[in-house]
Amino acid sequence: MRTEPLQIRNFIDGQFVEPVGGKYLDNIEPATGKPYSQVADSDGRDIELAVTAANKAFPNWSHTSAADRSRILLRIADLIERDLEKLARAESIDTGKPLSLARTMDIPRAGSNFRFFATAILHTDSEAHITDNVAFNYTLRQPRGLAGLISPWNLPLYLLSWKIAPAIAVGNTAIAKPSELTPMTAYLLCELCREAGLPNGVLNIVHGTGPNVGAAITGHPKIGTISFTGGTVTGRKVAEMCAPLFKKVSLELGGKNPNIIFADAELDAAIAGSVRSSFANQGQVCLCGSRVFVERSAYKDFVDRFVDKASKLKVGDPLEPTTDQGAMVNKTQLDKVKFYVDLAQKEGGKVVLGGSAPNLINDRCQDGYFFQPTVITGLPVSCRTNREEIFGPVITITPFDDEEEVIGYANDTDYGLASSVWTQNLNRAHRVAEHIHTGTVWVNCWLVRDLRVPFGGMKQSGVGREGGEEALRFFTEPKNICIAK
Ligand code: NAD
Repeated sequence: MRTEPLQIRNFIDGQFVEPVGGKYLDNIEPATGKPYSQVADSDGRDIELAVTAANKAFPNWSHTSAADRSRILLRIADLIERDLEKLARAESIDTGKPLSLARTMDIPRAGSNFRFFATAILHTDSEAHITDNVAFNYTLRQPRGLAGLISPWNLPLYLLSWKIAPAIAVGNTAIAKPSELTPMTAYLLCELCREAGLPNGVLNIVHGTGPNVGAAITGHPKIGTISFTGGTVTGRKVAEMCAPLFKKVSLELGGKNPNIIFADAELDAAIAGSVRSSFANQGQVCLCGSRVFVERSAYKDFVDRFVDKASKLKVGDPLEPTTDQGAMVNKTQLDKVKFYVDLAQKEGGKVVLGGSAPNLINDRCQDGYFFQPTVITGLPVSCRTNREEIFGPVITITPFDDEEEVIGYANDTDYGLASSVWTQNLNRAHRVAEHIHTGTVWVNCWLVRDLRVPFGGMKQSGVGREGGEEALRFFTEPKNICIAK
């Protein structure tokens, strides 16, 4: 019996609805290269419907007590945790990432996003100032109205929920657009929101492409707040759309993150941490350390041991429990990786590990988008391979001689998202961290997350910060009220 593929429809006003134009895109499973569902190919007409629903829901939701909003968000977190296995499997099929990673990182972190902001709104305070004998001032922080939330494909539910949770927790209503490449977990989230009792219209999810749906969100005059995560080129387009409309915008963009290893580092930990930061999610995490710098006296030892460890990563079917490396998200991304590996060699680099697709993984995955973990040495710091974001399992390793030199190397890029520094010298750790131009510096660790800290990038890695207090402030409007004494 032939069954129709699942159609991922929009979620507007609490209902799953067809896109107005009736069109769908194929949703491809990266591990097989074959469509396994279809996703709504929406446009501005669907955004109009979502705006109407979000507008209608705003007065009640923004006046719902923080305690009641909190209870609903906590229920959503509980349901994500209840459905962990189902969501992790959906995410693995949708993105090509190993099921084990989706199960241990992406989905649990999505649950904690709702849990964190559900409780954060119960503990906010508001400033008051006494102006000598003249007046009292106090600040009201009110929800801003409709929030447009646009997210990428690499950590789909994790990043979308990081926007949805604070936006609706403080009383906004939202129109969210997941990446058209990985829409499945956002679709499943809608069912959970309904089950948790989220009122209709508070969260609307409209699927489709960036030019059709993303641009309709950023250009809509009634959506005054835009939180965007994606590539720097797209971020620029988003900024151009939002600027004339004076929207409040947060941009979380690309990275070319340095990972610095001093000779005094605990080398086993530095190697294990660096293999993870290089190849987690096939190198498709914006925070991956794609430029590794190693102090010259430890360079050879580090490269040998790093390559040995990385060569043991098992590239395989994402659904197999023993797989460390799954598939790239699509053919475009795979071709981009191949392009940069060729370019690196033209620029004088030597491929010391990987550099090509792996042998056949299994029959199911014969047309999937796989690439081996790849290590390149011998490149100058200023070449294109070392400056442009590749966003795949390809890293470079370069020696350095002293602290000043490596700080220069680390900062020699247009990006400034994150970095990691490995050393046992405490003073050096503080000094180097202070001088690196990135929004986050990890010392002797990587990807440790505390939701209270500000998260975001410098330079072309973004504008604004997410996380904790920053997100609560971003999604609210401060109003000062001055009362004469
Ligand atoms: P992308 O910029 O292609 O797409 C991101 C989102 O924007 C998608 O939903 C897409 O449909 C939408 N979009 C595309 N064109 C648009 C337009 N004109 N107007 C509005 N929306 C539009 O990025 P991607 O390929 O999905 O994701 C990979 C990129 O995201 C990498 O550069 C990575 O570094 C970055 N990223 C950054 C962070 C961070 O926190 N800084 C986190 C994850 C990923």
